[in-house]
Amino acid sequence: MTAVNTAAVNTTCPYCGVGCGVRAQVQGEGVTVSGDPQHPANLGRLCIKGSRLGDTLDLSGRLLHPMLGDRCVSWDQALDAAAGGLQQVIRTHGPQAVAFYGSGQLLTEDYYVANKLMKGFIGAGNMDTNSRLCMASAVAGYKRALGADWVPCRYRDLEQTDLVLLVGSNAAWAHPVLYQRLAEAKRQRPQMQVVLIDPRATASADLADRHLALQPGSDIALFNGLLHWLHQHDALDQAFLQQHTTGADAALAAAAGWDLARVSRETGLSPDALTAFFHQVAQAPRMMTLFSMGINQSSAGTDQVNAITNLHLATGRINTPGNGPFSLTGQPNAMGGREVGGLANQLAAHMGFSAEEVDRVGRFWGSDNVTPGPGLNATALFDALADGRIKAVWIMGTNPLVSLPDADRARQALAGCPLVIVSEVMQETDTAALAHIRLPALAWGEKEGTVTNSERTISRQRAFLPPPGEARGDWWIVSQVAQRLGFGAAFAYTHPHQIFCEHAALSGFENQGQRAFDISALATLTQEQYQQLTPQRWPLPALPRQARAFWHADDKARLLVVQPPVLPELTGYPLTLNSGRIRDQWHTMTRTGKAAALMRHTPEPVCVLHPADMADMAEGDIVCVTSPRGWLLARATTDNGQLRGSVFVPMHWNRQFSAQARVNALVEARVDPVSGQPQSKQTPVRVARW
Ligand code: SF4
Repeated sequence: MTAVNTAAVNTTCPYCGVGCGVRAQVQGEGVTVSGDPQHPANLGRLCIKGSRLGDTLDLSGRLLHPMLGDRCVSWDQALDAAAGGLQQVIRTHGPQAVAFYGSGQLLTEDYYVANKLMKGFIGAGNMDTNSRLCMASAVAGYKRALGADWVPCRYRDLEQTDLVLLVGSNAAWAHPVLYQRLAEAKRQRPQMQVVLIDPRATASADLADRHLALQPGSDIALFNGLLHWLHQHDALDQAFLQQHTTGADAALAAAAGWDLARVSRETGLSPDALTAFFHQVAQAPRMMTLFSMGINQSSAGTDQVNAITNLHLATGRINTPGNGPFSLTGQPNAMGGREVGGLANQLAAHMGFSAEEVDRVGRFWGSDNVTPGPGLNATALFDALADGRIKAVWIMGTNPLVSLPDADRARQALAGCPLVIVSEVMQETDTAALAHIRLPALAWGEKEGTVTNSERTISRQRAFLPPPGEARGDWWIVSQVAQRLGFGAAFAYTHPHQIFCEHAALSGFENQGQRAFDISALATLTQEQYQQLTPQRWPLPALPRQARAFWHADDKARLLVVQPPVLPELTGYPLTLNSGRIRDQWHTMTRTGKAAALMRHTPEPVCVLHPADMADMAEGDIVCVTSPRGWLLARATTDNGQLRGSVFVPMHWNRQFSAQARVNALVEARVDPVSGQPQSKQTPVRVARW
């Protein structure tokens, strides 16, 4: 293995949103990896995925040359074909017929350039990302409650809190180092309480003092009932509500309909269990709620987030150490994508599409063609592919034919698109197989840029390996296409440092300190300073904890009236399917699937059932899981921690590892009307021996 740098390099793990600092060093033919003790996210810790990063760096299966169809071509030929194809579609059908679909794996600099090209110069809003599937409901919930996409917590709050609610989050597997921090905090202060709120007794139950195995989709019933009970028992912070919030009267009136009997009926939890939990919340001086996909991936995901923010606002437990509602982002750079406008309903630098913002961004970019409004989000984008409105799509660093709901329909939609461009690390993915143009991108260890983790800390990813074959950075690929489209002056980047500084400058451009997201203090970094950049938490300079705590025009937060999801009942599908992560795999396994040590934990697709739901099936049988949308095959396994009536199937398997195990082929493309995030949980299914 040839190194660009044989000294230890400080970089950032490319997997989950914890964003752990990693020290990587090329030694002989291998790479040793250890946790960075200086990084504030992990303080030297790594989970098994991070510690096995060195096992995933071989070049087997990599896309190493530009390809037109199955033919390797030069970069000039591939870039000319991509730009020429986009140009033709724009001329013939207009800019709205073009779409980009990005990824939380992209670095912030890559994201920035792609978003700038689509929204600023092509002039359509159709740039969305797989982060839509992960945390769009958290973004929408924070914006509704706090006035900005502002995460009001940081990791070290875990070491100062008294009660942690883990809601719809199996942090032990999905955010392992954060879970380790939580476990250590509890070891240091055993009086700190942890409550797991999840239909399944996941690995995170090991740390929990209490597990509330509620019915899937009943979180709002629980939180409304809790809010009502606290109100009845005079346990709300009335002074905080009065001084810092609006909307409390309506939210409390709506919650008043949720008495103990009704909450018990909806959640399946006994009145005694509910009352004990409510007392526990009332008595805790400080409280954090950590939430993840079990909350976000719902057709009422935004309301579910706001049920949580309601609780923190009503008890005044926010914006002080050890308090707050904390969204744990799934991907390494979901937050960075939010910063640059990677979601179709954002423009750039956390700005929306007011006339003033469009004008301001247009003047900053030097473009009079900035899209005046939002574009198509992930599921709408694939709907538009299906009905022919989108005629050219560029998919960057993601595998939507495995990860999108209704994945077989997404496959048909993509197969019918006249121009599919894919920038990828791997040559053969479910999605790349349908590409007309494949562009080889750099992978972790080869590329340079920044990512932002769940607590708003920006960290560098640094290269320690040379570019393999002809692979290039995503920012370079997009910039080259932009130049061929005639936008050369605005995309004349030669290094990601220039892009980062431009992005930082935009965050402070004419904003007079009015926006939550401001990193303009970093806009004048030299390239050397950028290379040496240590983790920085935005905004910069940091705000005192209580200052500008809320970002609505009146400086007050909002309590919202929230309602549980209503799903149609289907006969013939008696079980409820929830998908999720397993401990040692990441996304669609294109990288973690390479590491033998990571494959050992769960070597094949499984369907986890409660023993009482096994009917005539036996442990180890191959079973067929069927929904109205599709079917998959998996090995049956029983678990007493699985709530009766619900089944769990991992989300990871793609066609390279198993021909018929894509869980999202079973999931309907039903979305939250506010956030556009799909309901990836609660799919009605039946399970039978194959
Ligand atoms: Fe990587 Fe997440 Fe594990 Fe940290 S916790 S090492 S970021 S996968």
